[in-house]
Amino acid sequence: MSAPILRGWCPGAYRPMASGDGLVVRIRPPLGELSSSQAIGLADLARRYGHGIIQMTNRANLQIRGVAESDHAKMLDRLVALDLVPHDSRLDAQNIILDPLRASPSNDVQAKIAVALSEALHDPEPISLPAKFGFVVDTGAARRLGHISGDIRIEAHRDTLLVRADGCRMGRPVHSVTEAVSNALMLTRWFLETGGVNAEGRGRMADLIASGAVPPEPLRGTLPPNPAADPPLPGPTQNGYCVAAAFGQLTSDDLHFLADCGAPWMRLTPWRMMFLPIVELPMGFPRASTLIADPLQPLLRVDACPGAPACPQASVETRALARKLAPSLRPQETLHISGCGKGCARSRPADVTLVGRNGRFDLVRHGTAKDIPDVCSIAPDTVPDFIYR
Ligand code: SF4
Repeated sequence: MSAPILRGWCPGAYRPMASGDGLVVRIRPPLGELSSSQAIGLADLARRYGHGIIQMTNRANLQIRGVAESDHAKMLDRLVALDLVPHDSRLDAQNIILDPLRASPSNDVQAKIAVALSEALHDPEPISLPAKFGFVVDTGAARRLGHISGDIRIEAHRDTLLVRADGCRMGRPVHSVTEAVSNALMLTRWFLETGGVNAEGRGRMADLIASGAVPPEPLRGTLPPNPAADPPLPGPTQNGYCVAAAFGQLTSDDLHFLADCGAPWMRLTPWRMMFLPIVELPMGFPRASTLIADPLQPLLRVDACPGAPACPQASVETRALARKLAPSLRPQETLHISGCGKGCARSRPADVTLVGRNGRFDLVRHGTAKDIPDVCSIAPDTVPDFIYR
């Protein structure tokens, strides 16, 4: 198998990506929220037009796989009717992540910032940005999204809002939602005008800052953001309940169940979990559910991309092997199984990484799918011998 193809763009609802099992349609629900009726509508669309699977991404989006090209337009119409996808295709690519566990919703500053920013990014004309360029809105006393990818970060120092370029330690204090949005836009324009985007149309703020670029004085940071918090675990939280799904993959039945378990709406998270505000304990997961409420479940420490046959770049099956190996993981041990060297499911190092190549696996210890393997070309059925010998 040849080297993985770097596509440099992300699928959307209007611009799905072809995969081994049909189109991948990515949905970015407004404010990362689903009402019960939207969740049920989405679950039914996944069953009708896809494989009945809804994937949660690490950008707090959702993906439906396996959509036939001939069904795409019909499905898109339904997604627009559900208000899950904008009417204007040019607005489909905005990446704005909010803290999903923020308190609700009497004075939701984060939602106000996200709505105003979304409007400003296409008024009067959409600003053209690299596909992976994104904004993080994370203004709580503890930053929950500190480890989540984002190029411009709207955070807080105590109660003061900050706008921070990713890669800079300090953020610029601002004093209103309006000022936060206008500073974020100025920083975006500075990124574009300073050569942040390469000839292939790719670019990230942290790379620009690492190259030595310094934002102009009016945008330069002077205060550090609030301390970062650990990502939440499945189970009860201060104001609701988090439910995880193995590999971030919900079945249509799972989504029906979550829509019906008493929360007024649910929020997508970048941690392969749904957050259900107000709910104390959802009972009775459906049969064959992928849902996880136990924070000690070993599958929470396993990342595996769809692998073969879903992804054309994979020569190995990944998730069945992941389920087989998970119960044998040592306490705290992390496992990443990647269908190829691209490593889509995890960019951080794992204790054990298995990388598919020519129908066999390479083994990397304490690294990523892109690192030099410790052991090469292991037959799939002998993988446990190599990991645990
Ligand atoms: S890492 Fe997995 S999902 Fe990504 S391109 Fe390779 S096989 Fe496909």
